Amino acid sequence: MKIICIGRNYVAHAQELANEVPTSPVVFLKPQTALLKSGDAFYHPEFSKDIHYECELVLRIGKAGKYIQEEFAYKYIDAYTLGIDFTARDLQDIQKQKGLPWEIAKAFDGSAVVGEFTQVKDIREELPIYFTFYQNNVIKQHGDTNLMIFSIEKIIAYVSQFFTLQQGDLIYTGTPAGVGKINIGDVLRAGIAEEEIFRVLVK
Ligand code: ZN
Repeated sequence: MKIICIGRNYVAHAQELANEVPTSPVVFLKPQTALLKSGDAFYHPEFSKDIHYECELVLRIGKAGKYIQEEFAYKYIDAYTLGIDFTARDLQDIQKQKGLPWEIAKAFDGSAVVGEFTQVKDIREELPIYFTFYQNNVIKQHGDTNLMIFSIEKIIAYVSQFFTLQQGDLIYTGTPAGVGKINIGDVLRAGIAEEEIFRVLVK
């Protein structure tokens, strides 16, 4: 399986990092070794002094597809959850300045937290999805699929031009505003309508 991530999918988040609002989705990948299940600890790596949380809606692909049309995109999603796209912001800033790829800042072990999945027949019936992310019981991010620059359908159509989607692939749909630094000892958790979807302790 592969993990496909969308960057800058909320206007307010693009602005907080002083990025342009994109005209097509910003896409990057993480390997399977990046996965970290809810309940597991995240061990803060030594290569970064500025790891940021980015809480995101995560879609799971239920069947293979390529060149998927927007109108049929919902058929390829069999579940959703919340996750974190951990980002070594200090390394990413260096890579961005040099115009180099982001993998060392984005795709490291444990950088893709994934929560408990909710199975769906038709993701459109679940929308809009609102979510809340907490760092040590303080609300830090609010997500709302209505505020995405690129809709779930547009994301599926766009990325499936380049990558054949396969059963079990995950798509991280971008983070809303409010990203910030994590610290050892933090409890990071997120929920949808009072239901906890994931919880991770930073060690
Ligand atoms: Zn992200």
